[in-house]
Amino acid sequence: MISRRTFNSKITKGAGGLALASNLPFACAMDGQQKKKKLGMALVGLGSYSTYQLAPALLDTEHCYLAGIVTGTPEKEKVWSSKYNITEEHIYNYDNFDSIKNDPAIDIVYVVLPNSMHADFCIRAAQAGKHVVCEKPMAMNVEECDAIIDACKKANVKLGMGYRLHSEPYTQEIKRFVKEKTFGDIRYIAADAGYYSGSNPGQWRLNKKLSGGGALVNMGVYAIQSVIYGTGENPVSVSAQEFSTRPEYFKDTDETITAQFEFASGVVGNIMTSHNIGANRLFASCERGWFELDPASTYIPLAGRTSQGVLNFEQESQQKLQMDDFASHILYGTPNLAPGEMGKRDMMIVEAIYRSITENGKKQLLNFESGYGFAGNE
Ligand code: NAD
Repeated sequence: MISRRTFNSKITKGAGGLALASNLPFACAMDGQQKKKKLGMALVGLGSYSTYQLAPALLDTEHCYLAGIVTGTPEKEKVWSSKYNITEEHIYNYDNFDSIKNDPAIDIVYVVLPNSMHADFCIRAAQAGKHVVCEKPMAMNVEECDAIIDACKKANVKLGMGYRLHSEPYTQEIKRFVKEKTFGDIRYIAADAGYYSGSNPGQWRLNKKLSGGGALVNMGVYAIQSVIYGTGENPVSVSAQEFSTRPEYFKDTDETITAQFEFASGVVGNIMTSHNIGANRLFASCERGWFELDPASTYIPLAGRTSQGVLNFEQESQQKLQMDDFASHILYGTPNLAPGEMGKRDMMIVEAIYRSITENGKKQLLNFESGYGFAGNE
């Protein structure tokens, strides 16, 4: 068993490390800010994901740390400032957020708000000159994704998605299988991502104005991601169906959706996403065997098997790995594992799935203009 960090620290001492180290002076010369050893991150929105995953992970990160908070709930300021030692000048609310541009302690703004607020805060963060991490789904629609990407380009700041799995060792192993054709060509790829949402009809995830959609935008993006990095290809078409068994509960948003993908290579793809069915799996049937992750997108621990045996990697906080990878991208020019273009591509697929459903399952062709053919295996 070998963790990716152990592996990285080993190669840093060896020849691979020389290659990485040789990037350093270049990266440092690019921008005074990049000379900092650790980048300061501000979390915007202190809900459950920030509270239980991101903030604790930021205590362990190597390349970034929690330097500020942005909250609409004044009672949280005291709790967070004492827990994470954040002084008053680094605490913002939604109204005075733009003054964060004058705060040199903040390098990265991580937007962890309901989906309807992603575009507004990502754009304002970019305009304040801060690098941006945007939670999934990227925004309410493709138009908003474009606006975020444009704002970051204009401000010359980096943009990353909160797609933590790209930094996670089981997912990276799947990408390796695909790239190296370990099991030959892939013929069928399936991904399920759903959970039983119980009985809390007041939650923002079931309110379309705040969420932009139901299971598909919340969990479906994991299934979409899985079939793409599980094949190394973007799909060329999608057809979809919606199922509703509790319309009295899911009044405003989709409950369960299935969708079938075609890929140029001939791979057949199938996803299921639901707010009413628990499922969390990626499965690929290949020319010479199969591979599977189950669970495939929970925080920890993921688990995996192949036709050759069981996968076994050391578990580390995915959020820690993800935030470190993004900070390292800024500091050292390492690859951006989940750029904004990837979030936009997924939103294009989400829109095509909804379109197919309104057109009774009609096949929708997907055309990713150049620059959006990012299959996530680079
Ligand atoms: P949450 O409901 O726990 O927290 C939402 C936060 O937004 C709260 O602090 C709340 O006060 C604030 N907020 C501001 N305006 C609001 C409004 N009008 N209605 C409701 N809340 C409002 O949600 P969460 O689970 O922390 O999710 C936040 C974002 O993070 C979402 O985009 C979600 O998709 C994403 N997320 C990603 C992952 C992942 O694994 N990458 C996991 C969980 C959540």
